[in-house]
Order: sequence, then structure tokens, then C-alpha cells
Amino acid sequence: MKERTLILLKPDAVQRAIIGELLQRFEKTGLKIIGLKMVQATDAIAGEHYANDEAWLLSVGEKTKKSYESKGLKLDKTPHELGQNVRQMLIAFLKSSPTVAVCLEGHGAIEKIRSVIGSTAPIAATPGTIRGDYSLDSYQLADTKRRAITNLVHASDSKDNAEREIKIWFKSDELCPYERVDEFLLYG
Ligand code: GDP
Ligand code: MG
Repeated sequence: MKERTLILLKPDAVQRAIIGELLQRFEKTGLKIIGLKMVQATDAIAGEHYANDEAWLLSVGEKTKKSYESKGLKLDKTPHELGQNVRQMLIAFLKSSPTVAVCLEGHGAIEKIRSVIGSTAPIAATPGTIRGDYSLDSYQLADTKRRAITNLVHASDSKDNAEREIKIWFKSDELCPYERVDEFLLYG
């Protein structure tokens, strides 16, 4: 019933000094912080997090294509090429400043946090979501500037990815499962 998810407060969140505000939003959901650390990402850790995985490259590339096409714009590159470009930009960005890694545990943690952070491009993210409230970036602006979209937060998008990503950022003894006093209210 209780699942885990991995969140990264990316370098733009750290540089804008909103670590505390964002952690508060995660805590207020009822999900429990069981791991928390600041990390200066290396090439190895950034490359492992944004894995050179065909399914991921295609999903990022296809999302990008759709966003352009919805605005009547065309892209010459294939989804695979777009995915590769984005991966390189993300690795460079993740290394540009420290990142805060957070492991959260609780009912429906992955789905809940994806809805709290909002959609990938902040320009289109719903107000009230983190990306909708704290950023204005878009696919077009980020690509023109040849950098990753600055959208403050990474969050796992599936159980398999959550398990894979948690292992990249936390050793098993860095996670601290415990009971919280409000759990009887949250879970009955
Ligand atoms: P997320 O799960 O909502 O973070 O989105 P994805 O997993 O699809 O993409 C990972 C990250 O890559 C996003 O959060 C953005 O920072 C960045 N990104 C995705 N697509 C693009 C793109 O087309 N252009 C640029 N510049 N960055 C992108
Ligand atoms: Mg993703």
C-alpha cells in the first residue's frame, strides 16, 4: 500500500532559495520524508539518473514534438535525437549547482507528487502546482537558449523508476522509515 518516490530539487530550486518552501509543500500532502540530503552531482550520478534508455529518450522526444505541434511549429529532429539532446542538457544542468534529493513514502506517493509538481513546461502548468506557481519556462524558450527546461523539481513517474532512482541517490542506511503521529488520521 505504501509506495516510495524520489524527488530532486534541481539546481534552479536551490539557487532561488526555495528549498524550504518546496519541502513544506511535500510534507503537507501527508507523505512522509524518509530520506533527505544535498548532493553535488557528478557526471556519473547525473548520467545514471537520466539514463541512456531508449524508452525514456523516446518519451521525452515525443512529448517535445507534441508540444511544438500543438503550437503549429515543426521540428526536424526525430524523437530519439530530441531525447538525446535533452539528456545532455539535463546532465549539464544537474551538475551546475547542488541538488537536494528527497525520498517520500506513503499511499499513492508517485501519483500524488506528480500532481503536486504539475506538467513539464511551467508556462502551461496549472496554477497551484509547483511548476505553475514558481516558473514560467517553456519548451521554446529552453530550446532557444539551448538549456534544459527550468522546472525546479524532478519526480519519479513509475514504481520501477522510483526504485531505480532512489538507489542512485540514497544508500539503504540513509533511508529512515518511522511512524508519524498523524498517520492514524491519514490512513484510518
Ligand atoms: P518531467 O518528468 O515532467 O520532468 O519531464 P521528462 O521526464 O519528460 O523530462 C525530463 C526533464 O527534461 C524535464 O523536467 C525538463 O527539465 C527537460 N526537458 C524535457 N523536454 C525538454 C525539451 O524538449 N527541451 C528542453 N530544453 N528541456 C526538456
Ligand atoms: Mg520524467
